[in-house]
Amino acid sequence: AKAKGRGAYQLFEPEMEEQARSRHALDHDLRGALEANEFHLVFQPQVRLDTTELTGFEALLRWKHPTRGLVSPAEFIPIAEENGLIVPIGEWVLRTACSSAASWPDMTIAVNLSPVQFRSRGLVAMVTSALAEAGLPPQRLELEVTETALLDDSEATIEILHQLRGLGVRVSLDDFGVGYSSLSYLRKFPFDRIKIDRSFVGTLGESPESVAIVRTIASLGSVLGVETTAEGVETIEQLDFVRECGCTTVQGYYFGRPCPAAEVGRTIETLNAV
Ligand code: C2E
Ligand code: CA
Ligand code: CA
Ligand code: CA
Repeated sequence: AKAKGRGAYQLFEPEMEEQARSRHALDHDLRGALEANEFHLVFQPQVRLDTTELTGFEALLRWKHPTRGLVSPAEFIPIAEENGLIVPIGEWVLRTACSSAASWPDMTIAVNLSPVQFRSRGLVAMVTSALAEAGLPPQRLELEVTETALLDDSEATIEILHQLRGLGVRVSLDDFGVGYSSLSYLRKFPFDRIKIDRSFVGTLGESPESVAIVRTIASLGSVLGVETTAEGVETIEQLDFVRECGCTTVQGYYFGRPCPAAEVGRTIETLNAV
């Protein structure tokens, strides 16, 4: 009877328990990951739609866990945001991305900034120092922020965004359309680029809502004089559609998956030959 009781109890528990255990283990392992050199960056090409010219790359973080293998950023970044490690990890990402990009031809490097980094001290000084150390002109750096960065304490965040832009750095609004009040942020801060979330691009074929949303964001961008990037373009149909809508750039598997630094040169050659 005892064993049976335990079985019934476990019917509800194991999944949640396993999730909590895994999160806890990742939290623990993350603490040593930077020093153990377990992170690397991959780079995904961004392409202009009118000329199909390569404009730059987005840097995306990868964690190679010693026993689990690659852990998705969707899994470990929320943990790093919670325990604060995203601040030193994000600094490593920015410094590494800037120094890689300094050796490429004249193209932009886009780097994601976590909302937690905005609440940390010295973000602007850190960006200044990363650019100087890499010898990268500020105009070649683009910082991607999501609207969750702007939600709390928006006055202070907007001030930091202005300071970053004052350095000559470009600022993009990432994952546009998925949040609650995206439109109001376009009034509060002059973004250089809006990135249309790939959940809309990926459902263009089956969702009239997505079609309408992508069209609307693209025309909003053109009215405001802001560049619009369609994310997650995988097929020629999606490419033709977002071009017809007036999006200015695309990023997605159609033109290239994220690749390691060593393959960036080859990606540049291949895409420039298209
Ligand atoms: P994101 O900034 O929206 O990055 C785009 C994500 O879409 C990347 O996933 C990329 O690999 C994926 N993607 C690009 N094109 C396609 C496509 O055609 N099809 C599909 N199915 N996916 C595509 P990834 O690398 O797994 O990153 C997930 C998220 O993790 C990022 O979303 C970003 O929010 C976060 N992230 C990644 N690196 C960093 C980082 O260095 N710092 C911070 N704070 N967040 C990061
Ligand atoms: Ca991004
Ligand atoms: Ca995005
Ligand atoms: Ca996203």
